[in-house]
Amino acid sequence: MRVLAGFFLVSALLGPLAADGADDAIGRLMHAQGSSDGPAKSLPVAPPRPIPQTVAGPSVGAAPQGPLPIVMSARIGEHQDRTRLVIELSDPVNLRAFALAGPDRVVIDMPEVSWRLGSPPRPSGFGAVKSYRYGQFRAGNSRMVIDLNQPVSVSDALVISPSAGFGYRVVIDLFPTTRPKFDAQAGWPADLKKRESDAERLAALIAAQQAPPAGSGKRIVVLDPGHGGLDSGTIGVNGLMEKDLALAEGLKLARTLRQRGYTVVLTRTNDSFIPLRQRVAIARANKADIFIALHADSNPDPETTGTSIYTLNDGRSDREASALARRENQSDAIAGVDLSGENNPVAPILIGLAQRDTRNKSSEFATNALHNLGQVTDLLARSPHRSASLAVLVAPDVPAVLVELGYLSNNGDAAQMNTDSWRAKVADAIADAVDTQFVRPSPAQVSR
Ligand SMILES: [Zn+2]
Repeated sequence: MRVLAGFFLVSALLGPLAADGADDAIGRLMHAQGSSDGPAKSLPVAPPRPIPQTVAGPSVGAAPQGPLPIVMSARIGEHQDRTRLVIELSDPVNLRAFALAGPDRVVIDMPEVSWRLGSPPRPSGFGAVKSYRYGQFRAGNSRMVIDLNQPVSVSDALVISPSAGFGYRVVIDLFPTTRPKFDAQAGWPADLKKRESDAERLAALIAAQQAPPAGSGKRIVVLDPGHGGLDSGTIGVNGLMEKDLALAEGLKLARTLRQRGYTVVLTRTNDSFIPLRQRVAIARANKADIFIALHADSNPDPETTGTSIYTLNDGRSDREASALARRENQSDAIAGVDLSGENNPVAPILIGLAQRDTRNKSSEFATNALHNLGQVTDLLARSPHRSASLAVLVAPDVPAVLVELGYLSNNGDAAQMNTDSWRAKVADAIADAVDTQFVRPSPAQVSR
């Protein structure tokens, strides 16, 4: 069984809602409310029953048992008085919907499932749903995140037993509401919040246990392929997804560095979502000598091309760098991570903590890497060493850079980034910069 743990984004701009729902049971369900043929007449199904309010998914660390439940179809119905979401599954699952504000989203949380949506529904963009995405959130959990055009109140999820050749259907209604009412009800259910903080503590613990013993003498490089799982990052003009490119380059660079004798830790080795602060925690737990995040950018101007490297600054960025920081920092929001209070990864106080020595080393590395990269590929025409308030670079004790490999919005860049040969020479150039950073004689040795 092929498990689709990937990410799928359906933009409101792609086209109108597929109008093929009228002849099947789900289609009738979509129109059951607010139409002349009510549910009793059009739907030969058992009466809906509320899903028990238990935590969706197994407890933290539990492995899924047996084959995963399959999501076979999903529909979004936009009506005058509500937006109705129907998800069809092979098995009944505990599924939980809740709203989050800033940005306004509805999160549908469930145990890990296999997504088999042949033709995902496309919202018109004029109803409550702006866009949505679905995929793996973390091991054992899947998630659908709906971006909202307007404040809504979320109904309890109702499950309808299989009938007429359909599996279990889960119905969730979104009713228009006022901003104050939305803000009052938005937020994480307390038990899910606890599950998330437990999962992060566990991840940090595992990262610390995997850290190489002190005194091994090997330099430690933490590589951070950007995005993943629910969060695809930028999608290229050729369909190449930033998360896939970042992972491919990360795995290649890891191989290169290991061959040169470095200890390499990757923040992810597959298509899974990792919160930004967890990436920082992995770097710190491993006492990394350098942290290298790998991304690719996009620009409204399709002619913009070239590689650039970002280091951390305190927010005094030009407009373009600020826009980039907004894009890269929103990964957690995209995946429905709790950003309240002290969990906010871009809290200014953290950025202020990054120490001068760390920042100097980061800048040195960026300079070396750009010098090498300039020999094998084009750099961004205007100053390729840039700075922005990037949440993933804030560790005070780990020199850190974020490489924007190129522009997925540019035909040439997107095409070459999709080749093994380009990825290999870029990995070599970055590895050379790591060598330069660590084998250069110290000032004391030079003066001797
Ligand atoms: Zn990115």
